[in-house]
Amino acid sequence: MKPIADAISQAAKKPAGLAIQISAATGPCEPDCSICGGSGWLRPNLPVGHPEFGKLLMCPNGTLLRLPNAERYGLTPDEAHTLDWSDVLDRGNILKAVQAIQLALARQYGWVYLWGDFGQGKTLALKIAVAYTLRNRRFAAYVRMASVVENLRAAFDAQDPSIEAERRLEWWTDLPVLAIDEVDRLRQTAYAAEQQFLLLDRRYEQALRQRAVTLLAANIPPDQLPGYLADRVLDGRFAIVRLAGASARLGMDWDVKG
Ligand SMILES: [Zn+2]
Repeated sequence: MKPIADAISQAAKKPAGLAIQISAATGPCEPDCSICGGSGWLRPNLPVGHPEFGKLLMCPNGTLLRLPNAERYGLTPDEAHTLDWSDVLDRGNILKAVQAIQLALARQYGWVYLWGDFGQGKTLALKIAVAYTLRNRRFAAYVRMASVVENLRAAFDAQDPSIEAERRLEWWTDLPVLAIDEVDRLRQTAYAAEQQFLLLDRRYEQALRQRAVTLLAANIPPDQLPGYLADRVLDGRFAIVRLAGASARLGMDWDVKG
């Protein structure tokens, strides 16, 4: 774990000016912004069927990193502002993982599955991907699998649990980039297994529709995942990178299997 901790503490020492800027910001955009009026969001007028139909878009003058509740994206403000690919140390197979993630982020869809022992930089790579995406004004979140399930379960405390649960599932489904750590560290109750299936199945559909990037990290090889998930990860379209091992299998070109 040391290299990751080092990289993060190193990242935290980067320009202090940014942190001052964040605390000075009061809203997602300039209060008198001529484009969004200060809300930070735009809902473009697009025809039904357009891939961006119904989606909120970030105001070009705004920045996600100024959102008061930015912690819902899973990073500390320091991490969101400073984590960068240059923080990754060239060891093991990590640069293969970085390459696979960067490719998925560049084309804006696909899955990447990273697996290997602890301390190989999986978490750091996922967090950098999210920080990088947020800085590029697109939504992204870093989260552990167990935390997603906990978030969905907490919907039962709401006044209208089924609507709230669906709203939360949609939030996780619709993120353009979702990085899920510790995919294999979930206490497999029937509820947890069902929620994990629902979310990952929807993320898989989003990838097939070329609408979202899902990054997964685990300690186990994909063929040891629950069957439905193994089938999806191993369907040949997705990048699978084993860290600290000799083998790395990058996904086939999407045109092959369309
Ligand atoms: Zn604006």
